Amino acid sequence: MKLIRLKKSRKKLKRGGTHIKKSIRMAYEHLSHDPTFNTMFLEGTLRGKRKYKFMGAKLRIEFAICEECRRFGHTTLNNCIDCKDIPDNAVKIFDVFFKERGY
Ligand SMILES: [Zn+2]
Repeated sequence: MKLIRLKKSRKKLKRGGTHIKKSIRMAYEHLSHDPTFNTMFLEGTLRGKRKYKFMGAKLRIEFAICEECRRFGHTTLNNCIDCKDIPDNAVKIFDVFFKERGY
């Protein structure tokens, strides 16, 4: 899978050193190989997006598989503006953050 990272997801996490960067890199690697393995759909207001927990569940990646956006009608829910132009084999990364922000 091809990873598409939104600008928002590229800004640096406020804390964290090289081990965090390394974990994020590995998480991206995981998502590019199999974004459905060990990931789950979010619920409530974030319904439509998926999350992947890693680094002992301390970090979260919020993402969508655009093929699923379209198949399940999640495009509007996900505010996935360019969804129709994203190939089926792509994963869109919306955000990476520490768990205390919630869910
Ligand atoms: Zn999409």
